[in-house]
Amino acid sequence: MNTSPTFAERIVAWYDVHGRKTLPWQLNKTPYSVWVSEIMLQQTQVATVIGYYQKFMARFPDILTLANAPQDEVLHFWTGLGYYARARNLQKAAQIIRDNHQGRFPEDIEQVLALPGIGLSTAGAILSLSLQQHHPILDGNVKRVLARHGAIEGWPGQKVVENRLWEMTKLKTPKSEVAKYNQAMMDLGASLCSRSKPQCELCPVSDDCQAFSTQTQANFPGKKPKKIIPEKAAWMLVLVQDGKVLMNKRPPVGIWGGLWCFPQFDSQQALEQKLIDEGLAHLTPLPLICFRHTFSHFHLDISAMVINLDAHHSQASQASEIQEQSNTLWYNISHPDKVGLAAATERILAQLNLITH
Ligand code: SF4
Repeated sequence: MNTSPTFAERIVAWYDVHGRKTLPWQLNKTPYSVWVSEIMLQQTQVATVIGYYQKFMARFPDILTLANAPQDEVLHFWTGLGYYARARNLQKAAQIIRDNHQGRFPEDIEQVLALPGIGLSTAGAILSLSLQQHHPILDGNVKRVLARHGAIEGWPGQKVVENRLWEMTKLKTPKSEVAKYNQAMMDLGASLCSRSKPQCELCPVSDDCQAFSTQTQANFPGKKPKKIIPEKAAWMLVLVQDGKVLMNKRPPVGIWGGLWCFPQFDSQQALEQKLIDEGLAHLTPLPLICFRHTFSHFHLDISAMVINLDAHHSQASQASEIQEQSNTLWYNISHPDKVGLAAATERILAQLNLITH
């Protein structure tokens, strides 16, 4: 009897011919290498991740090296990728593996799920791709393919929609060749079944794709209901002296946790009060650096006041008292320390170059 190939068979056959197989984390796959790549890929495109992944793995080639490294250095290797909680959790999990699992990545999915920063889909991806265990996955790319193929309505951020997609991925994940199938689904979502302008005519499952047959691809997955993002303001003080700038390390939790930022104030008045307290109130600031930084849940309108202490030699000694506090650093702009910088800090440093040269 001539049966038509299943969904999974068509996906795998497509991957054999068209899939990506030579990305750095696809060569010599280990749970660690897949784990690092999966975490980096969570919010970042493949093309961007490649360079970061290679540098990260060169510096932290195994779990123990990562667990024992200074957090500042881990964040330094993450600078530019954003979503720093990913890096902090990665290291925290490496320390748990060092302390509780003899330094070996656990092979039991419940133990993997107990590690910080690893959800059900990531755990499934690590164990299936590196150890051929049978686990379904449901990352953003897989959600898009399944939502379109089955015309699953609603925003996947809603539990009921997500549950339907989990049911679907469990049903479709084959017993054999699970690693290849999971990789193929992520690839298909990242290539042909892209967010905009999917190339359905090349797709191996277009024959029974419901969104394609009704030309409603753009409706799936459903969009997140719009909400108004609140606006907040922050003032930052940038003290420049001898090619260095004064920075503070943020507390480990909260925005930019553990990263280095310029001293921050809730208002211009609070910043000016600080200048008075430090005996720096009469110094003339350079033009303000103003920009908006948008987080997922609010906009932050940042105004950075720059004071060049080199132009005010007599006040420099007073300013130096500020550095006596803990968690402060005179950051050398031309020979940067290996520390993690918040996105706003990087942006201010770039602007600083323009106004001080
Ligand atoms: S046919 Fe088009 S919309 Fe459907 S799964 Fe393939 S690429 Fe996606």
